[in-house]
Amino acid sequence: MKKIYLVFLLVVSQAFAQSEDEKQIRQIYDVALTDGQAYLWLNYLSNQIGGRLSGSVQAQQAVDYTKTQMDSLGLDRVWLQPVMVPKWVRGTPEFAYIETDPGVTTNVPICALGGSIPTYGRGVKANVIEVQSIEELKTLGKEKISGKIVFFNRPMDPALVNTFEAYSGAGDQRRSGAAEAGKYEALGVIVRSLNLRQDDYPHAGGMNYGDIPEAEKIPAAAISTNGADLLSATLKLNPNTQFFFKLNCKTLEDVESYNVIGEIKGSTHPDEIMVVGGHLDSWDLGDGSHDDGAGCVQSMEVLRILKKIGYKPKRTIRAVLFMNEENGLRGGRKYAEVAESTNENHVFALESDSGGFTPRGFSFDASDENIARAQSWESLFEPYYIHTFMKGFSGADISPLKNNTIVLAGLRPDSQRYFDHHHAENDTFEHVNRRELELGAAAMASLVYLFDTYGVVGSN
Ligand SMILES: [Zn+2]
Repeated sequence: MKKIYLVFLLVVSQAFAQSEDEKQIRQIYDVALTDGQAYLWLNYLSNQIGGRLSGSVQAQQAVDYTKTQMDSLGLDRVWLQPVMVPKWVRGTPEFAYIETDPGVTTNVPICALGGSIPTYGRGVKANVIEVQSIEELKTLGKEKISGKIVFFNRPMDPALVNTFEAYSGAGDQRRSGAAEAGKYEALGVIVRSLNLRQDDYPHAGGMNYGDIPEAEKIPAAAISTNGADLLSATLKLNPNTQFFFKLNCKTLEDVESYNVIGEIKGSTHPDEIMVVGGHLDSWDLGDGSHDDGAGCVQSMEVLRILKKIGYKPKRTIRAVLFMNEENGLRGGRKYAEVAESTNENHVFALESDSGGFTPRGFSFDASDENIARAQSWESLFEPYYIHTFMKGFSGADISPLKNNTIVLAGLRPDSQRYFDHHHAENDTFEHVNRRELELGAAAMASLVYLFDTYGVVGSN
């Protein structure tokens, strides 16, 4: 009899607890959708400041702006965390053409890849060898590659529904194509833009030379998908086609920049820190609205919403706007380094760096127990059409915080349009939908609320 009564009590208390959670989450969504601030912040970041390449004036303006905005939220503490960042500059616009016969040329859109050396002198002009992979270089050997421009043309796989998988499947060409082709005495590399759509935008992105000797470094540029198809078709008709490109980029000395951090102190477990973040730097061709202005303003919005609904977190909740994700990850590394040296106990970190599109769910890099805990909340998110709670990647900036107990999570928005804009000139404010952005902020605040309320398994 007693046992039945206890079970009854448990069921009632769970039902009550759930309705309390339902209420809180409803309130979070109400604030995000009827009184949201994220979109207004993004408007300023994108349209008044613009692209925020590490070490640029715009990156510094973004630091100042977001710091001032966080100062105005009445948080317990807002500060700048200094970090040295690389400073790579694009210089005057790049230029390229395909030359089928002497003097018969067609211009194609390219952009230098971040970290590339310039084309010294008047530019590079040479025959082209098209390849589908880095492995193919080995098969061809120095004999066939030396003195040519290597054209990496493997597209993102359109059969993959998760476009991030398609992106990682093709990304090695951009990241290390130049370092690899340089070993075979190529004069430069042209890489098909990581974009699933046919268009005329070249997509920037980071590349690095690893530890190859200075003499083997060759310039690297991305070509638009239309440009890549034209070059490929032209080469089939005329293998003697030449390609010309000129890049004016260079790497300057490292400069000091900052992570921007705001926090609400925890009421009962202030030593347990929960992070929500995005990266404040961006590529320079567009204004970085999706990548990752969206994630920054959503993270700030999480703190603002929690204050607005009068929620007093048990744990310390921080919004961290990381500097230099795109071409160095220095901000993410610095944050983790400082956390470790000051013995801070980070129990949870959530990153939004997949665009400001309609949120579909979260991926978790965490223990099975914590993933199960998150999955037990799925029904709370159902009314908001958030269905995906899966094991997977969290985010680059928070990845240096990884340890055995921390819950790392990533907001997973719909990914179908992301690579239309990613790192390109058309990553701009008008391509962000206000409600989609706000729904993402609300989903993030809800997950933070739940992990704060119920804790992280294994954290104490
Ligand atoms: Zn990003």
